[in-house]
Amino acid sequence: MNYLNTQLHVDGRWQDAEDGRTQAVLNPATDQEIGQVAYAGTADLDRALAAAQGGFERWRSMTASERARIMHDAASSLRSQVDATSRHLTLEQGKPLAEARAECLAAADIIDWFAEEGLRIYGRIVPSRTSLSVRQMVVKDPVGPVAAFSPWNFPINQTVRKVSAALASGCSILVKAPEETPASPAALIRAFVDAGIPPGVLGLVYGNPAEISRHLIASPVIRKITFTGSTPVGKQLAGLAGQHMKRVTMELGGHAPVIICEDADIDLAVRTVGAAKFRNAGQVCISPTRFLVHESVHRNFVCALASYAGSLKVGDGLALDTNMGPLANGRRLDAMALFTEDAIHAGAEIVAGGKRIGKTGNFWQPTVIDNVPTSAAIFNDEPFGPIAAVRPFCRLEDAIAEANRLPFGLAGYAFTNSLKNSDLLARNLEIGMLWINMAAATSAEMPFGGVKDSGFGSEGGPEALDQYLNVRAITIANV
Ligand code: NAD
Repeated sequence: MNYLNTQLHVDGRWQDAEDGRTQAVLNPATDQEIGQVAYAGTADLDRALAAAQGGFERWRSMTASERARIMHDAASSLRSQVDATSRHLTLEQGKPLAEARAECLAAADIIDWFAEEGLRIYGRIVPSRTSLSVRQMVVKDPVGPVAAFSPWNFPINQTVRKVSAALASGCSILVKAPEETPASPAALIRAFVDAGIPPGVLGLVYGNPAEISRHLIASPVIRKITFTGSTPVGKQLAGLAGQHMKRVTMELGGHAPVIICEDADIDLAVRTVGAAKFRNAGQVCISPTRFLVHESVHRNFVCALASYAGSLKVGDGLALDTNMGPLANGRRLDAMALFTEDAIHAGAEIVAGGKRIGKTGNFWQPTVIDNVPTSAAIFNDEPFGPIAAVRPFCRLEDAIAEANRLPFGLAGYAFTNSLKNSDLLARNLEIGMLWINMAAATSAEMPFGGVKDSGFGSEGGPEALDQYLNVRAITIANV
């Protein structure tokens, strides 16, 4: 199996927690313990903070080209380790090996893209209103050491977006990675270490999430917080950051509407959102979750989606024929049982799945629930699991109103062959990312982020760099 125990990375050294404390890591497909992760205490965090300050001074004094070279080398190193890293990711998180491999390779692409984009952080000269001898300059500087909190659903991908944007901007970054899936983000950090990143520029800790976030956010060393996770925790951390006047990027929960219009290509819709729904067992912040289907195609769509769900092979992510792995932890399994029970109680109809598989591992059947009332929990709380909840609609305006009803505003999908419908949807859906007639296609060069309670700040595109830069105005009179 060859799964590695995971250490902290502080000031350029891999090390155990000072008091030797560790936490067990479980394989969600077998419930077996597969390793241990070091569990940082306050002394470890203080050393990591001092290192991040030193690392920032080193990193900001290098040229953007020198930083880009190290980042490109890290991307190459990550690619060269893809087999081992994706195996570790599957063992600790559960997703099928092909998805783990794709996550690892996408991370290398993200590093490469940000390495190049870091070369294009420009200021500008603004002509003075009053005198030609006055020079007005706009300069952009790295904000300083960053504290990053990344979750367990995409342990590499959610970490690499933060790390790449921070490093490309000239910031040092201290990552609190997920304790449940520690080895794969550690492999990402190792790729930068192998590429020769100076000590302190990129740190890695694990431990008690609430204690670590409280300690790091309050520290005067940290100038910026970036978090991916649930909306309640995001609000808590944004509140703490506000008390200390720290910049934040929040990539939080979603509840993505999928609007299937009467003129939609149903085969295309089922193929694309079906695959997207059950990818990573639905534990994806942009996963399609609320399916709103025009009444004229509702029946056809539901039958086809149920049949697609029933055709998926659920099993250990290491098996090559597995389409969907286990849920990443027991909490998600409990949540799926509660959502399903509540929906049945509310009068909805299970048309595929709806039950746990076996007694070992966190396996849940790919599930489709039809005619779900808007009052059911699954139509209000983020499912974060393999359940598609469907209800019919009559007028497109009603579907848009339902899509906008919740406080979330991360992602959304629509299927229509009408330009008029596309335009109406694009103008009126209150979401950060909309895909029409296709599955989500995220890339480093496109913005990634939500509106409303789904957070703020982008983790993609040139906008991602703005999150890590201070803008300053300097005016010089040539007297
Ligand atoms: P949770 O809300 O306790 O934790 C979510 C993430 O936040 C975890 O990575 C956790 O380690 C971290 N976290 C929790 N409290 C923290 C704190 N005080 N300081 C810093 N980090 C903290 O719940 P969970 O059971 O781990 O996940 C369930 C919910 O989280 C899901 O329903 C989903 O809404 C959300 N989630 C979202 C994403 C995403 O990509 N946006 C990823 C993972 C989880």
